[in-house]
Amino acid sequence: MAEVSGASLIASSLYDLGVRVVFGIVGIPVIEVADACIARGIRFVSFRNEQSASYAATAYGYMTGKPGVCLVVGGPGVLHAIAGIGNATHNCFPLLLLAGSSESHQVYKGAFQEIDQVATLAPMTKFAGRPPSLELLPATIEKAYRVSYYGRPGPTYVDLPADYIQGKVAVDDTMKLYDAPAAPNVAACFNRIKAAAKAIREAKAPLVIIGKGAAYARAEVHVRKLIDSTGLPFLPTPMGKGVVPDSSPLNVAAARSAALKTADVVLLLGGRLNWILHYGAAPKFKLDVKIIQVDISGEEIGNNNQKGAELGLVGDIGVVAQQLTHALKGYKSAGVPATVAASRDKNMAAAEKKANTKVLPLSYQFAYKVIKDAIAKTGKDVVYVSEGANTMDVARSAFDVDHPRIRLDAGTMATMGVGIGYGIAAAVAFPNAIPVCIEGDSAFGFSSMELETATRSGLPLAVFVMNNNGVYHGIEPEAYSTNTPLPSTALGFETRYDLIAEAVGGTGIVARTPEELYDASVKALTSKGVTVVNVIIDPGAKTKLEFGWLASTKKAPKAKL
Ligand code: ADP
Ligand code: MG
Repeated sequence: MAEVSGASLIASSLYDLGVRVVFGIVGIPVIEVADACIARGIRFVSFRNEQSASYAATAYGYMTGKPGVCLVVGGPGVLHAIAGIGNATHNCFPLLLLAGSSESHQVYKGAFQEIDQVATLAPMTKFAGRPPSLELLPATIEKAYRVSYYGRPGPTYVDLPADYIQGKVAVDDTMKLYDAPAAPNVAACFNRIKAAAKAIREAKAPLVIIGKGAAYARAEVHVRKLIDSTGLPFLPTPMGKGVVPDSSPLNVAAARSAALKTADVVLLLGGRLNWILHYGAAPKFKLDVKIIQVDISGEEIGNNNQKGAELGLVGDIGVVAQQLTHALKGYKSAGVPATVAASRDKNMAAAEKKANTKVLPLSYQFAYKVIKDAIAKTGKDVVYVSEGANTMDVARSAFDVDHPRIRLDAGTMATMGVGIGYGIAAAVAFPNAIPVCIEGDSAFGFSSMELETATRSGLPLAVFVMNNNGVYHGIEPEAYSTNTPLPSTALGFETRYDLIAEAVGGTGIVARTPEELYDASVKALTSKGVTVVNVIIDPGAKTKLEFGWLASTKKAPKAKL
């Protein structure tokens, strides 16, 4: 029997499961693990802060459908990576976190970077464990990997004690792992499919809402068939965009409020009735709307939807979409209701007008139009990443996508700081595309040092920092020189974010005019390196301080408990 180090055993276990990339940061005791991974043929993307590394792994999990793997040191490394654990839980992304920990014989003695990581992470993960022995390390990794993406995806954790990593073990066939299969497909109960189809057939104004669960489920083929064969209008959530092309005439995203308000039966494919969907409640939804929830997680059914719970369908979206297409054979929806279509036309015309109104300093809308023109001109395949408040809000409708999983944003936790990590993950997951990170200046600040990760790793990024000198909005230049304290939302005046790119071996460009922005965009999109375009936009100091999405939910009536 061959004897190998614990580090090699970890690397070969990951490799055998099909893992080809690990995100993380090394230090004692996980350097050997990362090096063993590299030696085994696994790419190790080495970050500057575990927060970004863990975010990147979650996004990689979402884009590829298998857990993103993140390797960190114990103690502070794990505490920083909890950011990714939370991100994975809240967004339902698969993540396997691996962390070094103290040598077994030093446990509870105040060892180097010692915290009880299993106890800390157990309540936050689907599984958290320390392998009972070095021989059982592969089995524990396999369990954590599988549990992360079977059922509702989420985070799992495996503790790697230093003495296991450095130990030697005789390997035999019982320790060998095999390429992890796709998660089992689950079909919904036949009677409920019939009931759901009946509700849709009888609806006056049915609407399909497509969530990021449908994108994660890689259900696009079947969801598109369902929409095509029934002619049902649909509304994507921010990350559900592209499961059915945004360009479809049945897409009512541009009349979101009108569509929600009009629908009497909603078929919800892979989305939760949380703040993003206004809790499925009035006044955004009709008071007596029936919501047919389709979800892989049985526990999700009925959340904020007691009335429609009996129509809930537990199953994999791809499978359930096929079941529904079959059950709805011969049915044709009346399409987009006239009032919704009218609202869509009006909103699209208004958006078009804003996008074509040349203003200086640049507005979000006009700047995005210029960037879009450059994207069209270069013909590049793009993965969009966007974070910030208004930066993200306006970008969501400005940049349409026709494919799933190529638009990532701050997600269910509205997390600022995911942008560059997500961009790096996108560059790894889609080597033929260019990640376009549309960053608020505040959001960019959370992870800008990761630009060095990207340059060093040879990963291209086109980063647009929408610089309005502040969180939400900036202040007028004069306000910096008065004696009054700066408001909490203020950031430095025209900070040279572009120079950060230059400092780490990338390219930085300042863009104030449409011409400068267009040229910079073409450069950024066609470069094989990292470019930061510092887009100086209107500080918007006199505008109301709000995040449009939340503002639209404010008027919800008090919930009856
Ligand atoms: P959004 O933010 O787009 O509304 P959410 O993150 O709230 O989406 O919801 C995604 C939902 O998709 C989760 O409830 C999750 O359980 C579900 N989901 C994930 N994978 C699948 C799948 N393969 N089939 C069905 N539902 C899934
Ligand atoms: Mg800002």
